[in-house]
Amino acid sequence: MKILVTEKKHLHEDSIELLKKKGFEIDFSEPDLSKAKLENYDALLIRTYTKVDKEVLDRAKKLKAVIRAGVGLDNIDVEECKKRGVRVYHSPGSNANAVASHTVALIFAVLRKIAKADKHVREGKWDREEFLAHELDDKTVGIVGFGAIGRLVAKKLSGFDVDFLAYDPYLTKEQIEDAEEAKRRVKKLDDLHELIKKSDIITIHVPLIPETRYIIGEKEFKIMKPHAIIINTSRGGVVDEKALVKYLKGDKLYGAGLDVFEEEPPKNRELLELHNVVLTPHTASMTDKAHKNMSVQAVESFLKDFKA
Ligand code: NAD
Repeated sequence: MKILVTEKKHLHEDSIELLKKKGFEIDFSEPDLSKAKLENYDALLIRTYTKVDKEVLDRAKKLKAVIRAGVGLDNIDVEECKKRGVRVYHSPGSNANAVASHTVALIFAVLRKIAKADKHVREGKWDREEFLAHELDDKTVGIVGFGAIGRLVAKKLSGFDVDFLAYDPYLTKEQIEDAEEAKRRVKKLDDLHELIKKSDIITIHVPLIPETRYIIGEKEFKIMKPHAIIINTSRGGVVDEKALVKYLKGDKLYGAGLDVFEEEPPKNRELLELHNVVLTPHTASMTDKAHKNMSVQAVESFLKDFKA
């Protein structure tokens, strides 16, 4: 079996070695598949920026599997794969700890204005009063999407004196409130808008699917508490960036922490020039451990079904 590997530099070498050891033939390509001879391959091993859509599937006549090293499947037309009998493998939970930790880092970076303060000191300034900040304690943290990452965010923040609210219509009250990570401190809400109205910090951990596109938009920003903080480490399309910029500029929001953008890298100048946002280049999962887990776990599940 022949496998085309894209985004090689973002894959852990052990995953490729594992496939070679098992006798698979490996070729490499850019994430842009427009020039790739897809008809020659039985499987694709991809990361985040390779799109497997109908057009790619039409050309990949022999394709049997898509291995996505990572969690989100929004770059793959999963329904179309299903129809054609192409199996899709990924690595759920593999980077949850890294992303949850990064989420916590962003919460503090926004609360304590860390990026702005760093720039300030480097510029030789020392206006300490500009950095009067909010503390996390006594705040309400609203978690949208209580899956692997959302629940670990609650676990990691449980040492602070905070209240947690969670919105996840696919989980029962027990699955949320009795989750080991929740330590019985999380209250499930059935209404997203109630969570938004009550939370000081809103952190998003849903997959990007049609139902979650712009789950946080104009309507939601409008009803947020004054000085609320929004953190997005899930996918760019779940937050309407245009509305976000409007509310960040209007001082309705205290700030935002973003690891993901509607367009990556982001070209939205208005967003990039704001001082109350902390931005990271889709690196929430980029730790040595998660990097290896993501690649190897996806390949291992593929290897359970396929032989060279
Ligand atoms: P997960 O599947 O364990 O959890 C997602 C949760 O969202 C599920 O519990 C699901 O029920 C819930 N959900 C689905 N639709 C919802 C809706 N409309 N409203 C509220 N909740 C809803 O996934 P995870 O591992 O926690 O990852 C979450 C997302 O984070 C991924 O889909 C991926 O897009 C993103 N992610 C980003 C990075 C990064 O590098 N920034 C890394 C990993 C994952």
